[in-house]
Amino acid sequence: MTIQIDHLHKSYGSGAEAHEVLHDINLTIDSGEVFGILGSSGAGKSTLVRCINLLERPTSGKVLIDGRDITGAKGKELADVRAGIGMIFQNFSLFQQRTVLRNVTFPLELNHTPKAKREERARYLLDLVGLADLADRYPSQLSGGQQQRVAIARALANNPSIMLCDEATSALDSTTTAQILDLLRRINRELNVTLVVITHSLSVARNICDRVAMIDGGRIVEMGDTEELFANP
Ligand code: ADP
Ligand code: ADP
Repeated sequence: MTIQIDHLHKSYGSGAEAHEVLHDINLTIDSGEVFGILGSSGAGKSTLVRCINLLERPTSGKVLIDGRDITGAKGKELADVRAGIGMIFQNFSLFQQRTVLRNVTFPLELNHTPKAKREERARYLLDLVGLADLADRYPSQLSGGQQQRVAIARALANNPSIMLCDEATSALDSTTTAQILDLLRRINRELNVTLVVITHSLSVARNICDRVAMIDGGRIVEMGDTEELFANP
């Protein structure tokens, strides 16, 4: 799905305490694209992505998905927007008390998918991410790379068309990072999931992103095709 961000501003706090952290962000992420949001810590990357899945609301401006303005979505519309967007994080955010299988079935429990169906879907996804044999383990029994694979399977449970990856490889070593980036690329191509990749790492951006927006101090300072942006002069 196409994500369009139109004159977005975001402030935290209000009145005299208000502090604007995103200033007039404009960008379009095309359906099927791997789009990078690159910037140092505190630049505003997470805030921007949280405005896409509506964990935060913009102070002004709009977010459109496939041309539909979702900025004020509530109730069922909000639930539908969230279900269409998977999310993965640096720290994996798995449920420690649940097995791998029951981490992946969790989003399907929330929307009351029947038990047999959610297990079938979870086993399919665990196979896709290469963890079919580990379904009955607990997260603490897995490596970091394996835990991120579980989180990816969970993020795909509701068949989203967009996946937001927030520093998803920042806690992993370089070999594991390369494997996770390969998996994300495969998900982008084979399942046609649009990927938004937030990273502070130039090498992650160069490895996986078709296009990149660089953010500094809450503003887009550079945007374009990865190859052109990083071409040696
Ligand atoms: P990044 O993801 O690039 O590290 P963030 O979006 O997390 O940047 O943060 C951007 C700025 O917004 C920072 O100055 C941060 O301190 C501030 N910020 C983030 N979340 C909040 C919040 N919930 N309340 C107040 N300020 C926040
Ligand atoms: P909290 O909101 O206190 O962080 P939750 O139990 O709601 O705790 O969620 C913990 C983690 O589980 C979240 O950070 C998220 O990664 C994941 N999570 C929660 N709800 C869902 C969901 N519907 N689908 C996938 N992952 C989810």
